[in-house]
Amino acid sequence: MSISLYKRFSYLLILGLLPLIAWISYSLSYRYLLENDLSAAAGQLSFFASDLEAEIEKFSFLPRVLSRNQKLKELLSEDSLSATMISDVNQDLSYINAVSNTEVIYLMRPEGTTIAASNWDAKDSFVGGNFVFRPYFKNAIAGREGRYFALGTTSGRRGYYFSAPVSGDLTRAPVGVIVVKVNIDKLEETWQEYAMTFLVTDNNGVVFSSNSPDWRFRTLHPLSEDALLDISSNQQYPVDILKQTTLTPDKSYPGLLSVVLNGKSEQYLSAQQPIKALNWNVYALRPASGLAKASLGYAALASLLALLSWGLIHLSSLRRFNLREKFELKQQSERQLKEAHDKLEQRVVQRTQALSENNQILKQEISDRRFAENELRRTQKELIHAAKLATLGQLASGITHELNQPLAAISNYAENAQQFLSNNNVAQTNTNLVEILKLSERMSNITTQLKTFSHKTDDQIGITDLNKCIHNALAIVKSRLKTSNTSVTLELLSNAQVFANDIRLEQVLINLFSNAMDAMQESSHPFITLEQTKESGWITTRVIDSGPGIDETQLPHIFDAFFTTKSVGVGLGLGLSISSEIIQNLGGQLRASNHASGGAQFEFKLKCAIEP
Ligand code: ADP
Repeated sequence: MSISLYKRFSYLLILGLLPLIAWISYSLSYRYLLENDLSAAAGQLSFFASDLEAEIEKFSFLPRVLSRNQKLKELLSEDSLSATMISDVNQDLSYINAVSNTEVIYLMRPEGTTIAASNWDAKDSFVGGNFVFRPYFKNAIAGREGRYFALGTTSGRRGYYFSAPVSGDLTRAPVGVIVVKVNIDKLEETWQEYAMTFLVTDNNGVVFSSNSPDWRFRTLHPLSEDALLDISSNQQYPVDILKQTTLTPDKSYPGLLSVVLNGKSEQYLSAQQPIKALNWNVYALRPASGLAKASLGYAALASLLALLSWGLIHLSSLRRFNLREKFELKQQSERQLKEAHDKLEQRVVQRTQALSENNQILKQEISDRRFAENELRRTQKELIHAAKLATLGQLASGITHELNQPLAAISNYAENAQQFLSNNNVAQTNTNLVEILKLSERMSNITTQLKTFSHKTDDQIGITDLNKCIHNALAIVKSRLKTSNTSVTLELLSNAQVFANDIRLEQVLINLFSNAMDAMQESSHPFITLEQTKESGWITTRVIDSGPGIDETQLPHIFDAFFTTKSVGVGLGLGLSISSEIIQNLGGQLRASNHASGGAQFEFKLKCAIEP
């Protein structure tokens, strides 16, 4: 279940449960409190009933005892009543009444007239009163003990009457009736301490006593015609003071009653018990409004507890959900991380594989390149050699001329020497031989230089005298310079030691000089200028000619292999590309441009070997 779904469920649950819990707890607590109060009321009622019975019954013996009194009997036996005797009896009754704590004790003649009473001297004295209508009198005069509850017709006070017949000495038939009235009001006063309302009803259901004055003289159900006749004939209560108040049992809870009292409807819980000896019923009533309030309190408390429990469970569930969600998120991110890691590893493996394949290809390419480079180098060397041979070829005619001259001179000197020898001119012969030796030495020099140049070099780099190389190269091209009438101007440094290979350097210089002479064929005053400058450890040598210079469009291409403007068989187009390669291999640079004077200018830089 998702957290939002859980929240919705949880809120709906508490919204649905809360009224249910409130209702159930209200009903249960109401029932519990009601039963509790009912049993408490029943307990109090039982105590009250036995107390009431005991309080009343304790006087029941009194009329019986008094009926045996001789003075009463004598007074009743007298036809004419003596005032002394009446007074004497009155005194006695008054005394007994005071000692017994009863309301009044009085003596009645058989026709119902009261002849003596404990209250003989009171304003509302019973003396002279006739109570023939009272059932207690009727019973007693019939020879039985009587008891009765009524509102006093003379006193207006409620009381319980005990009566006993007084029998004459000669005859056992009653000659009078002795009555004891017990005061109910006093008894009621002691009931005020009870927290509930007690009702005491007679056999007709009339509430004749209660600790709540409102309830007195109310009937708990409608009185029958007979009952009403009985009450009025016995003058028990004035019928007009009786009001009906119906106790309607509440069907929802046994023991609950609805009562309309003084126009106000109220609910009571009630207990009821009979007092058989007195033929009474006692009721205990307690307002049920407290029950509803207390039950509401319990319902609120239960709802609060339920809400608190729900809150705790809800919070802990939310926490559990959050934890689970975090855990799931963590697991998910771990899974994603692992997937990413696996993918990365897979890609690394693939890339490594591709790289190793590439590596393999590269290795193959490198070895192919190396092979090609070696091939190139070999071809280059052969080309350089071929170019050298070509240069040699070019020089061949000049060299031939160079060698022919001394050869012819030698031959002349030798012929003359023969002449001088035949003339015994030894001195002149010797002079000719010296000249022949000088010429042959010169020829040897030329051939040595050519031999050296035509050799394949080992390409070793070392400290080389640049100016010596310049002179050697000029010597090689000397005859061509001469025939082309080219003058050479040298503006060289006094000491120009560089890192180079002398043969290669000479090859470059010869090529530059040959190109210059080729270019100056049309010049009227061909000349070559050699300049040298030294800067920051580098020596720059410039070869400037007086030719037409290099066409600007051709300038970018002249170092390309096989680029030539010369006719087939004259130029190969390799001289400058090989020369540039040689200078680069020596760590320098060969550049071409046009000199301000109009001719071409070639300059190359070489690393100075000895710092001044
Ligand atoms: P080749 O001499 O066989 O033509 P090079 O590589 O030595 O080959 O020269 C290439 C070209 O550069 C020449 O054909 C020429 O056109 C041009 N060149 C070289 N030196 C000069 C120069 N001093 N003056 C004018 N043009 C030159």
